[in-house]
Amino acid sequence: MLNPGPTNVNESVRRAMLAPDMCHRDSEFADTLKRVCQKLIRVANGADRYDVVPFVASGTGVNEAMMSIVRGRMLALVAGRYSERLYLIAQRLRVDVIRLDFDPYQGIDVSRVAEVLAADSSISHFCLVHHETTTGVMAPLTALGELAALHNVQMFVDGVSSIGGHDFDLCRDNVAAATLSANKCLESLPGISFLYAKKTLLAESKGRSCSFYFDVYEQWQRCSSTGRPPFTAAIPLFFAAEVALDRLLVETVLGRARRYRGLKRYLEQGLQGLGYRLVPLPEGQSSNILTLAYLPVGCEYERLHSLLAQQGITIYTDEATLRKGIIFFATLGDMHEKDVDRFLVALSECTAASLQGQSAF
Ligand SMILES: *Cc1c(COP(=O)(O)O)cnc(C)c1O
Repeated sequence: MLNPGPTNVNESVRRAMLAPDMCHRDSEFADTLKRVCQKLIRVANGADRYDVVPFVASGTGVNEAMMSIVRGRMLALVAGRYSERLYLIAQRLRVDVIRLDFDPYQGIDVSRVAEVLAADSSISHFCLVHHETTTGVMAPLTALGELAALHNVQMFVDGVSSIGGHDFDLCRDNVAAATLSANKCLESLPGISFLYAKKTLLAESKGRSCSFYFDVYEQWQRCSSTGRPPFTAAIPLFFAAEVALDRLLVETVLGRARRYRGLKRYLEQGLQGLGYRLVPLPEGQSSNILTLAYLPVGCEYERLHSLLAQQGITIYTDEATLRKGIIFFATLGDMHEKDVDRFLVALSECTAASLQGQSAF
């Protein structure tokens, strides 16, 4: 799989799901849940100031939970598909939200955010996506965290495709709340997601959620005090997540970030060797897992996709990106250079076949 999540998981993660039948109110499950949350705190350096609230949902679900506790005015920093989605979620939840747009391939310009915050003291929060998963551009989180502290506003971060595979530090960057799903850089299976939040923020969120299922305060109280979630949990997925977290803590976030970077460079070189032209991203702001390239002239994406699928390889590029003549490949998960080698051989064949005799580049 070279799509940006769900991703390739290690066999030990998959096997962890084959645990005995269990109820989500059993103490054994409560212990697992507690350990999963503690390990997640270590991954993002939450120390003792943050807690993790688990949800049975994909990443969008936990983003909705996060946005449901906003009281005040939210500034949405929109620089791509996923930050646009945060804005839409806020609108749907009737949050008082305004947006500030940026060029998706340039990313967030901190000085413009500073201007808006200085000019409008009614803004109490801003939200952003740390890694925009369709452009590969990272947000300048440390500088934005400093701005949040300066203006005393809360920074809400969608970290779904960054946390675990990129430098991310809740305390250092003054993050108020952040989201993560199990199936990206955590290298576990899809279906469960997590909200990181300052304990002070969680305590203030009582009665705020307009959603019954995604009531952050209730979920936090039940999970952190008793370890017994209010609703049926996706029990086997938590077992898988714990094994995945153990693997991450052994590899370390820094080690994983380095492996991902190395794979990305390796893929970039291979693509250039095949004649693919890479899309340049702003210096120092590209993610560790996404590589963008121009689709060769005359090469049809749908055909390329299905030829690769016949070889057991999955790629995915969203429509807005394709309209620009760009495709992307994600190298995350339990992936190594030999996997990239296999992909490059297949891509070479499939590119040639999809060109159907037209001159290539
Ligand atoms: C994958 C992803 C999500 C969540 O998408 P789902 O389809 O709900 O899993 C949210 N934000 C970002 C940045 C993502 O990459």
